[in-house]
Amino acid sequence: MINIKNISKIYRIGEQQIYALKDLSLEIREGEFVAIMGPSGSGKSTLLNVIGLLDIPDEGSYYLYDKNIASYHEDEISNIRGQLIGFIFQQFNLLKKTTARDNVLLPHLYYCSKNSREAEDVLKSVSLIDRINNRSNELSGGQQQRVAIARSLINNPKLLFADEPTGNLDSNSEEEILKILKTLHAQGMTIVMVTHEESVAQIASRVIRMRDGKILSDTGNLHSSEIRTDSIDINVSVPQITFSFVLKNIQIAINNILLNKVRSLLSMLGILIGVAAVIAMLAIGRGAQDSISEEFSAMGTNVLTVSPGAEHFGPMRVDAGKVTQLDIEDTQAIAHKLSGIKAASSIVNGQGRAVYGNKNWSSSVTGADVDYLEVDSFSIKFGRFFNQDENISRSRVAVLGMTVVKELFDANFNPVGEYIKINGSRFQVIGVLKDKGSSGFFDQDDVIIIPLYTAMKRLLGKKHLGRIKVKVMDEADMNQVEKSISSLIIERKKLSGDDIDSFNIRNMANMQEAFSKTTRILSYLLAIISAISLIVGGIGIMNIMLVSVTERTREIGLRKAVGASYKAILLQFLVESILISFSGGVIGILLGASISMLISVFFGWSTKVTFMAIAISSFFSISVGIIFGIWPARRAARCRPIEALRYE
Ligand code: ADP
Ligand code: MG
Repeated sequence: MINIKNISKIYRIGEQQIYALKDLSLEIREGEFVAIMGPSGSGKSTLLNVIGLLDIPDEGSYYLYDKNIASYHEDEISNIRGQLIGFIFQQFNLLKKTTARDNVLLPHLYYCSKNSREAEDVLKSVSLIDRINNRSNELSGGQQQRVAIARSLINNPKLLFADEPTGNLDSNSEEEILKILKTLHAQGMTIVMVTHEESVAQIASRVIRMRDGKILSDTGNLHSSEIRTDSIDINVSVPQITFSFVLKNIQIAINNILLNKVRSLLSMLGILIGVAAVIAMLAIGRGAQDSISEEFSAMGTNVLTVSPGAEHFGPMRVDAGKVTQLDIEDTQAIAHKLSGIKAASSIVNGQGRAVYGNKNWSSSVTGADVDYLEVDSFSIKFGRFFNQDENISRSRVAVLGMTVVKELFDANFNPVGEYIKINGSRFQVIGVLKDKGSSGFFDQDDVIIIPLYTAMKRLLGKKHLGRIKVKVMDEADMNQVEKSISSLIIERKKLSGDDIDSFNIRNMANMQEAFSKTTRILSYLLAIISAISLIVGGIGIMNIMLVSVTERTREIGLRKAVGASYKAILLQFLVESILISFSGGVIGILLGASISMLISVFFGWSTKVTFMAIAISSFFSISVGIIFGIWPARRAARCRPIEALRYE
């Protein structure tokens, strides 16, 4: 069954070479119970690890069931361990805070065949069925070692290896363990046990004594009746990673994350904050973009605004050059002489304080032509707009936006026919505008519209127009109409040289384009910020995973000892880092969505969490888990089982 020839195992410490095993040959046959004895440091554990396939000798050959072990790949050897060999260690090596049942079932994760047994069955055979749901830390040393024996039996192995199995136990527990081993031997199990106690060695059928890496004596008192030569087929094909295996690893990862809640949460923090910030920023940005483009379309993208003075944005007026004033005649010329124009309106603006009863409200007062309704895409909700007669006769009539109605009257009140005072003059309300429904940076419904002449001559006292608004028939003609208006004004005002810049035309279509360009640049910046935060978060996860791998080195060693392959361990740790990163991403998404909701409630900004933002965040948090988890996972998977098991 086991046949080793001239095996050596050499450890190098600096210049010095230590022969843990020296030119050792040994044969063990089916059904034997071998005890290996010898002083500490004589190479007993090394020998057991070599024949148990946990360690590889430096010299010599090893045949197991007539198969040369040297010809197998590392993962194939893992698989052979899983199906043929059970281990019992001095330190038990149970998984902490895990039930007896789950500890016993551990080898099933990596190898399971029709010969495998049930957890209940093996725990019954070590008389621990009543403790099946107890966690390992709730069991005594002797009970823990019995769980470890049950675990070694779960796949019905051919060989049982025990390294000082009673070394850490009191004499009562020792007796129980030895009784179990004796029973197993009686049932035909081949057992190799390391011990340094004569009394323990007594139960074995053969005793090998070692010293300095060599066999000193071998009783070899084999009864010929005990010798069997079962021929068996070793199935070395390494099992593929299946879906259910992945699911089990997700379960393991969840347990592990829950076991170290605070640490897991801290390691998620980077990803969590990054994703939350990105989601919130995107939501705000998207909301702003939506409300601004809504405003643009409410204002109409086919609108040109002609204003006196050079072009400027906002209140920053840089040059104090010549200003060409605009007059009513200019509006009429634009409306009547040029083609492609739907409507044009002169506009003057001012502030007005409106009073009704004991309520008052400050709003912007717009003096406009009768075509203004068309130009600014307003429509009438109650009453009517003023007519040209009222304009020419400078009538004191007003059309109110909904915000003004809400402030002076009531949202549901129809104020048509009522009188209000604007800057002290009495005006009759003749109409109410339908609200444009846009929220955002400025309120388009906060307006009072009165006839142009009334505004210029009576209320605001203006000689010239504030601006001329022109609605173009077809948006495709915007640039062309802009040019013809420009030429018309230049011609009418006889402008030349630098004076050409003394008026300006604002093109809404161009502005919208400029605006979308700006938002595009902003979103690139946002993407860079998110990339940085994801990298930082990923490094945090990698850090924690490396600590976790180091901490769990013994666990990894155990998993490998019971049959885990490179791929299986790699997957386990990768799943864990992905899960941490993904959970961070999910919590981040929820947090970001809540933040954007709070912002829209408290600041009144419209925000919008898009499906796209969620999908991208999830995708990237999973990617971060893979990218930053792969190194720690490979480090775990590369662990040599025996080194990992010896790790303190
Ligand atoms: P035993 O189990 O009989 O006490 P071991 O098989 O553990 O002895 O060790 C045999 C010899 O090999 C000892 O001299 C020990 O110091 C040495 N040895 C074992 N493992 C290592 C290691 N990883 N590095 C260096 N020396 C080792
Ligand atoms: Mg030892």
